[in-house]
Amino acid sequence: MPSPERVAHIAPLAFDGERFWPDGATVLTEGASIVSVSAGQGPAPEGFEVRRHDRGTLLPGLIDTHVHLIADGRDGALGRDVHRSPEEREQVVRASLLAQARAGVTTVRDLGDNRWSVLERVSSPGEPAVVASGPPITTPGGHCAAMGGEAAGAAELAAAVDERAERGAPLVKIVVSGGAMTPGSDLLSLQYSAEDLALVVERAARHGLPVVAHAHSLDAVNLCIDTGVRGIEHCTCLTTNGVQTPPDLANRLRDRGIHIGPTFGRIPGSRPSAQAQEVTQRTGLVPAHRFVQVEKLHRQGVAVISGSDAGIHSAKPHGIVAYAVAELVGAGIATDDAIATATSVSAQACGLGSTKGRLRPGTDADLLVVDGDPRADIAALTRVGTVVVRGTTITGDAGR
Ligand SMILES: [Zn+2]
Repeated sequence: MPSPERVAHIAPLAFDGERFWPDGATVLTEGASIVSVSAGQGPAPEGFEVRRHDRGTLLPGLIDTHVHLIADGRDGALGRDVHRSPEEREQVVRASLLAQARAGVTTVRDLGDNRWSVLERVSSPGEPAVVASGPPITTPGGHCAAMGGEAAGAAELAAAVDERAERGAPLVKIVVSGGAMTPGSDLLSLQYSAEDLALVVERAARHGLPVVAHAHSLDAVNLCIDTGVRGIEHCTCLTTNGVQTPPDLANRLRDRGIHIGPTFGRIPGSRPSAQAQEVTQRTGLVPAHRFVQVEKLHRQGVAVISGSDAGIHSAKPHGIVAYAVAELVGAGIATDDAIATATSVSAQACGLGSTKGRLRPGTDADLLVVDGDPRADIAALTRVGTVVVRGTTITGDAGR
């Protein structure tokens, strides 16, 4: 067997998943793994091919914890998906993954495919790693029902959880409130009762699976916290008076170790779609209120992760998680903490804490080199030079 490729990546600034290394770092990789990380710019030991990333910052590859690979990143994406053949859908998935990789995203968590098309897909070398839920469990005709995960009543819900376990899903996604992108769906409504959700959480635990919930309304978020859900997506805490942040919310989320994914991230300057504007107007789901909310929850110790809901419309194409991080910085969160939401903290939320999200010996050789210093200008995170996916080098957006 030929010995694996040995490469020394040397950069004047590095971020290890948690903090910056101001004197730079030398990261040694062998094949698909990181074998050594040391401060300073070399020298590299003998036998390693040296790649110097002058002016660059070396980070772990980013993780987007909320994507829909079947969605093509144009307006009406999810509506178009249902008309595609399996072959056409596969083309979309492949293009989505390529766009993610070029933006420095080396792991994605797909929180809604169509009839197992992402969960049961065999990935190709150089593609980001995929953690997939399969179709989210939802009520008949409910939010995201077109993905194929409809279930109601104890027997159907139990069967739905069992099916996900049998098909190898590492988590169960359930839609607890209505959502923005399904016409007629009410964000304030509850799709399931406390009994239903408790059943799903308990059944999933039997299979060793965590439950991640889509929840907009405060009622839905409260239900998720009380029933033992591990992750809450959106978590907008909407009421008839708009976005709310009850005083005890942070404590309750933190004490139960719940990750929240606020699904920030959009192309800067993009206009919200007519549908999104209508939802904002009708519900009071005002982005500025959410930035204040999430900064506060983070300051109070809640684990925030960055997932962008990539693919669902033209302001959210694939490969925008760096913009979600930039929005957190804009909201007042420290740069190192903000980048951790798309690296080490995300990895932990995805059950990949030992292999992803950090520059550390033993983790996968998932690397990102960006042009500039994100501490001075967070937009540097979007200037992608080199991307390495499990030891395979691909070219980033900036090198196209
Ligand atoms: Zn989503």
